[in-house]
Amino acid sequence: MVARSVVSAYESLGLSTNPSTLSRELAEQFSFRLLFLLLPQECLFGEPRRDTPVIEAHLQALGVVPRPQLVKAIKFFVDNFRAKTRQESAKPGITDVYIRYPKIYESILSSQAGRCAVCGVQLHYGVNMQLDHLLPWHLGDDPSDGSNWQFLCDVCNRGKGLLPHYSLGLVSANWIKPDISHSLAEDIRYASLLRDRRCILSGRGPRETHLIVRKKVQSGCWVLDNTETVDGSLIHR
Ligand SMILES: [Zn+2]
Repeated sequence: MVARSVVSAYESLGLSTNPSTLSRELAEQFSFRLLFLLLPQECLFGEPRRDTPVIEAHLQALGVVPRPQLVKAIKFFVDNFRAKTRQESAKPGITDVYIRYPKIYESILSSQAGRCAVCGVQLHYGVNMQLDHLLPWHLGDDPSDGSNWQFLCDVCNRGKGLLPHYSLGLVSANWIKPDISHSLAEDIRYASLLRDRRCILSGRGPRETHLIVRKKVQSGCWVLDNTETVDGSLIHR
């Protein structure tokens, strides 16, 4: 039923029909948890003779109408996934973009006002700057126009990498790990930033200021429901 709501939301968005753009838009619109639900295991890890019938049958089993655009987008994901698994291409990093695509590097950095796209900290090449793929690298591609790239600070990028491990629900999101939960974990920090998007007091976003995550109730623990995102310039630290 989750998948059905995903697809009806997808249909209501009126996304473009270009398969490459569509895939990227789809990934940005929905959490990756829902995206992965639509991918048949056989197409990712097996060797089906043809992907399309397997994808269509999988969507039908989920109660989703296998519309051609959606099937095409999923085919794009599984093709990329298998190619990446076979190590047919190397994952580019920030240095590749900096050296090989200087104009795109400058354009992305300027569109982000020189700041991390999530927390707004100032980015410095060679210090705290990392390349992030909007559509995960193993599902998507690296179009030469840079449209699948954004720049994150190293802390946000690590937080994003850790995120799926607990994103199964709020119960696990609020879980306490005895060894590390005495301070703000990078995945909780990243999830808080994504949830709030901007300062809950001033409304300023990551293009304008460095956002920090703090506790709502000081005597509580560092769990997701006890965090909030605020403009770092408003806080005396
Ligand atoms: Zn950041």
